Amino acid sequence: MPYVIAAPCIDIMDKSCMEECPVDCIYEGERKLYINPKECIDCGACEPVCPVEAISQDRRVADEHTDHVEDNRRFFVEALPGRDAPLGAPGGAHKTGAIGVDTPLVAGA
Ligand code: SF4
Ligand code: SF4
Repeated sequence: MPYVIAAPCIDIMDKSCMEECPVDCIYEGERKLYINPKECIDCGACEPVCPVEAISQDRRVADEHTDHVEDNRRFFVEALPGRDAPLGAPGGAHKTGAIGVDTPLVAGA
């Protein structure tokens, strides 16, 4: 089961997690980061470094943040605002650079 990033990351975005990820599957929106569920290998390395405990395995997300499980997936499978096509599985956040937009859930938070 992939790891996900929930609401506490919004407007924090210190990116400590990105530095830990061995497969570079944590992507940067405008106000929050998102884990690609197709690329995450479930290693758990990102979870302990988050200063606001925003990261957890998808089945362990706190009740008040369960909408972020689907929202991490949505960031990759639906076309984001201003884009024609979904990101899909681009193979690394350093390749894409910051994406710079958020899902509607996060943009409206
Ligand atoms: S669990 Fe591992 S592979 Fe998945 S996002 Fe975290 S560091 Fe990357
Ligand atoms: S470490 Fe936590 S707060 Fe920092 S960018 Fe990653 S998920 Fe967001």
